[in-house]
Amino acid sequence: MTKQKTLFLISCIIATICVFVFFAKDTAPNLTDDQNKFKILSTIAMVDGIAKEIGKDKFSFDLLIKGDIDPHSYELVKGDSEKLQAADVILYNGLGLEHGASVKYHIQKHPMSIPVAERIIEKKEYIYVDGVIDPHLWMDVSLWLQIIDPIQEAFSKVDPENSAFYVQNSVALKSKLLALHDEVFQLLQSIPSDKRYLVTSHDAFNYFSRRYLADSCELKDGKWKNRFIAPEGLAPDGQMSIMDIKLVIDSLLTNNVNVVFPESNISSSSLQKIVSVCKKKGKKVVIAKDALYGDTMGSKNSGAESYEQMIRHNAIVLKKNLNPSEIYGK
Ligand SMILES: [Zn+2]
Repeated sequence: MTKQKTLFLISCIIATICVFVFFAKDTAPNLTDDQNKFKILSTIAMVDGIAKEIGKDKFSFDLLIKGDIDPHSYELVKGDSEKLQAADVILYNGLGLEHGASVKYHIQKHPMSIPVAERIIEKKEYIYVDGVIDPHLWMDVSLWLQIIDPIQEAFSKVDPENSAFYVQNSVALKSKLLALHDEVFQLLQSIPSDKRYLVTSHDAFNYFSRRYLADSCELKDGKWKNRFIAPEGLAPDGQMSIMDIKLVIDSLLTNNVNVVFPESNISSSSLQKIVSVCKKKGKKVVIAKDALYGDTMGSKNSGAESYEQMIRHNAIVLKKNLNPSEIYGK
């Protein structure tokens, strides 16, 4: 074989290897691709936000109930059942929040679906409304951070190799949420006690009011319950009676409250009715311009698109409106 032929042969071999490597790289599974990760599906944004901070880039995250939609009565739409079936882990609030029949059906038959709010340590902290556990636990940050451990344990179970990573993220997140809890508590407790009364559209703020609006002495005798009232019950899809409206108006008059708060995803028609009846009684009540976030988080660039931002937003709106003589500069 001549020298030229040998060189040509070597060049051909190198070219063949290069082509093979190029196509092999192009077609081989990419382990960083979302499709190759375990799939975590959360029902509500408040759970999804916590899960993402624990799992970070190790999982593929998706959210079932997006935007402003009421999670209480949510029923599956096109594509949802495929999402639920494809999920390796389903994280849901539980305590009756997701009570739509089609959602419940899929959650109950999934082999790894976790009702995170039912796994909190301090069960004695549950609030009962008309004999039913109030599911809105995310409104008390010190309780909500207790969902971190069950989520971390689920992630470590499906992906034991990265267990230390999930534990480390959980520790960091707990300390961040404890700081948020302290910040919100200090901010709201700086409002004079006789102005710390909250009226919203539906019963989402019991945990919030007990932890952040009540005086400490009211926790033992149950008087913290006077701090919050709403015309609509635990789920805004329930029926509202004339008695519900009357109770709210009585509370406004008794506690000399002049402002009520709309919720971002609920019609404020019940609040408008209350304002109108109060006006006839000679009592001036206004609906605050800023809405609170009860069951959902804010859209992109709303300033309330993460769990922390949503809680902080609610606290700042209350501080501004319940105690307008002071400006919260943060
Ligand atoms: Zn609700």
